[in-house]
Amino acid sequence: MTDHKIPLAGVIGSPIAHSKSPALHGHWLKTYGLKGAYIPMDVTDSNLEEVIRMLPKMGFVGVNITIPHKVAALWIADQMTDRATLIGAANTLIFRRDGKIHADNTDGYGFIANLKQGAPGWQPASGAAVVLGAGGAARAVIASLIEAGTTRIILTNRTRLKAEGLKSEFGSKVEVVDWVQAGNVLEEATTVINTTSLGMTGAPEFRVPLDGLRPGTVVTDIVYTPLKTRLLQEAEQAGCITVDGLGMLLHQAVPAFERWFGVRPEVDVNTRSAVLG
Ligand code: NAP
Repeated sequence: MTDHKIPLAGVIGSPIAHSKSPALHGHWLKTYGLKGAYIPMDVTDSNLEEVIRMLPKMGFVGVNITIPHKVAALWIADQMTDRATLIGAANTLIFRRDGKIHADNTDGYGFIANLKQGAPGWQPASGAAVVLGAGGAARAVIASLIEAGTTRIILTNRTRLKAEGLKSEFGSKVEVVDWVQAGNVLEEATTVINTTSLGMTGAPEFRVPLDGLRPGTVVTDIVYTPLKTRLLQEAEQAGCITVDGLGMLLHQAVPAFERWFGVRPEVDVNTRSAVLG
């Protein structure tokens, strides 16, 4: 970054109007009094590579990548971090001064940082983690749980084959159970994570029976619209420690913001308000 240049960053997806990332990065730029701008960009599949290759020439220092381009962006990049390779998708691109495009995936980092902030006593190795769902977000969650030290992950997904696919990639720490058994395995868990889109505004309801939840279990839902999902409401009533999914979104942005704009931002109540407002 040079003094006379204004660093630009943004988020590429389609659709993109709903993204909270511009409000988040805009809040941090203002809070830390930094020069820079962060803009949403709606880009189609067919234009993705051309747009990404053009951005550094326009003064962009990097971009976030969201649905549906996370997998494609990884393969457009010239280099990728180990965690992006493991997850098989990129959510952050860094445009280096030597012209190379560097891909990272900070979703897993954001997931763990959110759990640590929201449930400070959480011990990743204290027992089994039940992961509901086997889509793109589940890959990041499973990779980061294993990295954090969780040794037993009980994975369940409506489409069992996808869960089996993740087991074959992540190995013997992952056990797969049928989706109809999801409620039954909750009593074995010290951590429960919903990574499905169930319960999200506009998506079908989350209907997994929750009577197996035990007091003290750490329960998190990566869905954050609404903030307090049915899973989190019922878990709270059952005496569980609950953590909402907004913090994952906020924390995943920290490493990229630091890399692009030179300051490591705090995730605090003002950050949450700026994004929710
Ligand atoms: P995805 O790849 O499309 O996966 C969707 C998952 O939801 C799959 O496991 C799918 O099961 C399951 N699902 C969908 N409809 C279902 C239904 N009717 N019954 C049972 N299971 C159903 O999506 P994703 O990228 O993983 O994202 C999942 C959710 O996480 C979204 O709501 C997204 O907004 C949220 N998210 C939040 C953050 C954050 O920062 N908080 C980050 C990433 C994603 P099948 O495999 O059977 O289809």
